Amino acid sequence: MTDIKSLTKDELTSLIKDMGEPGFRAGQIYDWMHKKQAGSFEEMTNLSKGLREKLTAECEFVCLKIVRVQESKIDGTRKYLFELSDGNLIESVFMKYRFGNSVCVSSQVGCRMGCRFCASTIDGVERNLAPSEILDQIYAIMRDTGEKVSRVVVMGSGEPLDNYDNILKFVRLLTDENGLNMGQRNLTISTCGIVPNMRKLADEELSINLAISLHASNQQKRQELMPIANQYSIDELLDACRYYFDKTGRQLTFEYSLVGGVNDTDEDADELAGILKDLNCVVNLIPVNPIKERDYVESTAERVQAFKRMLEKRRINATVRREMGRDIDGACGQLRRRHIENNQEENK
Ligand code: SAH
Repeated sequence: MTDIKSLTKDELTSLIKDMGEPGFRAGQIYDWMHKKQAGSFEEMTNLSKGLREKLTAECEFVCLKIVRVQESKIDGTRKYLFELSDGNLIESVFMKYRFGNSVCVSSQVGCRMGCRFCASTIDGVERNLAPSEILDQIYAIMRDTGEKVSRVVVMGSGEPLDNYDNILKFVRLLTDENGLNMGQRNLTISTCGIVPNMRKLADEELSINLAISLHASNQQKRQELMPIANQYSIDELLDACRYYFDKTGRQLTFEYSLVGGVNDTDEDADELAGILKDLNCVVNLIPVNPIKERDYVESTAERVQAFKRMLEKRRINATVRREMGRDIDGACGQLRRRHIENNQEENK
């Protein structure tokens, strides 16, 4: 069955014509799916009943099912657990900021990158998400909240550049003027540093933002936290970052999760400032969110501030990530893991 929500407008037009329907029907269907966030073919009331039945018989209409929503009492952040049509579960987060609403989406079921502090990767990767499944995380949240979404970050579970083609199609659909028409500058992709695909993305002539999970100031420390560093050295990574900036002109974001006693000393800050000094970037400091499977601890608030000041003294822009939804299993992959574990307990 054709996954209709993953088709570009041109692909959809060919499909509709092959079904013996006039081409303008494709425009109507595309509008229902990507502009109006319809939840089913049934809602597409300007199509004939016959066509709706034909579409239902021949196409898969991806529409995520909400399994659970947790809302933070602190800041209104909503964390969604969705079920896919094959029963797999994924997480997404809806965050309200003064400048608009933001959604954080997952790119894979699980992850195979193995970062030591991350809950998403503990059981490896199950499968890639289709473009439609990435998009519908946003659409489902819009349907549920009735609110607009002005920014999207691909920072949920999974490594987006390990699912390159589907991510690129997702970007094209999300930013298509016939759909949600999100500005490319309002979209950020976060990667642990798959160097060849960072370079490939730089060559696509897009103006989306790239965030790089750095988490260490030298090769040895990075290797201890992130297995991907064994494949691509920190120097190769920084070269790819420079290339991305040269090609796109977009300021880079480096994510740096502060782990108490591991990567949060003054020496670490100093070394970090040194390796970033010729890059147009901002460092986003995130006190690590401890997961029960590992014994990493978060840096103290004073350490985080001291680290930030050290960077700023060396003229590196630094921000401390506002901790949204800490009370609701905010860290990547925690909600899904807990849900699966609880179900296993109940079934024993
Ligand atoms: N695979 C992509 C995107 C997903 S993770 C990447 O690596 O960038 C989004 C960010 O959260 C990454 O910077 C990741 O390293 C970080 N992260 C994961 N688990 C965390 C935790 N427990 N505490 C703090 N940051 C974490």
